[in-house]
Amino acid sequence: MVPVQRKTHSQTRQGRSHDALTATHAVDCPNCGSPKRPHAACRDCGYVRPGLQLKGKGEE
Ligand SMILES: [Zn+2]
Repeated sequence: MVPVQRKTHSQTRQGRSHDALTATHAVDCPNCGSPKRPHAACRDCGYVRPGLQLKGKGEE
């Protein structure tokens, strides 16, 4: 196959202007202070939100 018309360098770069990855958002866990993603369980303590903790304090 041969492209109908080759894209210019500028068109290629402009098209890729939306391809950048965004950094993962993180908040500090209010329970233990380690960074965690919002609405997700903390890796260290399992805290999600008040009233929901998926892992007991101190236990694995
Ligand atoms: Zn935590």
